[in-house]
Amino acid sequence: MTVRTRFAPSPTGYLHLGGLRTALYTYLFARKNGGKFILRIEDTDQEREVPGAVDKIYNSMKLAGLDYDEGPDVGGDYGPYIQSQRRDTYLPYAMQLVESGAAYPCFCSVEELQQRRDAATARGEQWKYDKHCLSIPREEALERMRSGEPFVIRQNVPTTGTASFEDALYGHVEAPCDTLDDNVLIKQDGLPTYNFANVIDDHLMGITHVMRGTEYLSSTPKYNLLYEAFGWTPPVYIHMSPVMKDASRKLSKRHGDPGFEDLLSQGYVKDAIINFIALLGWCPDVKKYGEKEFFTMDELIEAFDLNGLSKSPAIFNTEKLNWFNHEYISRMDFDKYLEMATPWFDKVLAGKNIDYRCLAGLMHTRTEVFGNVPDQVRFLAELPEYDAEIYTHKKMKTNPEIALRALELARPALAALDNFSEEAVKEVLMNLAAANELKTGQMMWPVRIAISGLASTPGGATEIAYLIGKQETLRRIDLGIEKLKR
Ligand code: GLU
Repeated sequence: MTVRTRFAPSPTGYLHLGGLRTALYTYLFARKNGGKFILRIEDTDQEREVPGAVDKIYNSMKLAGLDYDEGPDVGGDYGPYIQSQRRDTYLPYAMQLVESGAAYPCFCSVEELQQRRDAATARGEQWKYDKHCLSIPREEALERMRSGEPFVIRQNVPTTGTASFEDALYGHVEAPCDTLDDNVLIKQDGLPTYNFANVIDDHLMGITHVMRGTEYLSSTPKYNLLYEAFGWTPPVYIHMSPVMKDASRKLSKRHGDPGFEDLLSQGYVKDAIINFIALLGWCPDVKKYGEKEFFTMDELIEAFDLNGLSKSPAIFNTEKLNWFNHEYISRMDFDKYLEMATPWFDKVLAGKNIDYRCLAGLMHTRTEVFGNVPDQVRFLAELPEYDAEIYTHKKMKTNPEIALRALELARPALAALDNFSEEAVKEVLMNLAAANELKTGQMMWPVRIAISGLASTPGGATEIAYLIGKQETLRRIDLGIEKLKR
């Protein structure tokens, strides 16, 4: 048997991180087993469809490196892979069920349904469809359908017994039939509901393993009744716990939680996101991998195994993601770092004639998220407001008085320097300190404060002086001297 898995998003927005994780696990499982990974667009609820969302899905899948073997934009033998383009596929299957009694047409209007629902609620009952139209003789019902009367087709769930299925993770899941509603399979507009389309398409597309969120766990017994009615073998089901923001709620766009592409544009690295997401609710075999936390995509494929999936909800921990991102950036090849950092430097330093290679050297291991880089380097473009207090540093044995002396010594010495390289600046300042019985820190700390306005900076006095250049260095030292005199 060739494993065939599918990722089946509805085009209702962007690829959120829970969706990305489902897609990733589904992809890993297919690759691990030498199977096929399929993308299917589930757009039968056209009211919820967001324009442009389908293209966003293709793009996100590409950016994430989750290449599918079959899908709307790559083709395949089981297409079309967009459900709205399969419109004509579903009704004949529904009619087959009508024929066998596993489904029936329903002509109840929205108003009638509402009245009966209200009455049930008033009686304190939980409403489910009352099988009203099941009593219409089959021939009469077929005639009404043929005559053009609006109808839906409902699943005829037995009134007694139980429906069940086996989940690879949750084991035997079962529901008493009398708690299950006669769901609509085909809507008035002729399109199937998710409840029907997922079964038909998973079967027709030869899907062997269905991996999706636990929100479908309670409906799956009902889907299994459909498989039974058709006499089809159901796929292996693997329902996965949700990704939570915290103990009380799922990650959601509505609450402003970022999606996959948001994270990319905030300056997270794709491989770090994938690595982090992979470990959100799945754990590699400890015997084989010990405490290993860093996995390339190929290593994930190698290590992926359903036994490692967790049944408890995973909490999305931004600090952990930031940690992964920082690790990935620090380990990145320097030229790659420079290339990725440049647009972020440009946001605040464009046109400032700053040596980006030197700056990248200072920032490479100090970058947690690229999106923070502009704030970290902004001081090179403009001197921030600062308090003279920060000239005081116990360990450096410096205070405002010593700082003033140091700056007054440094000012003319640096002004006389023609070659304003990092090494030359360093030599001048070191010699100056030695000649005036100042400790190195008593010279370097004040100069760095004066030219950066910050208590902590990427790089020291000499690198910053070189980066901002001679003129700006002198201007900032003058401002420091003024401030200290006040
Ligand atoms: N279209 C469903 C969703 O986006 C997919 C569920 C499934 O994978 O069967 O939630």
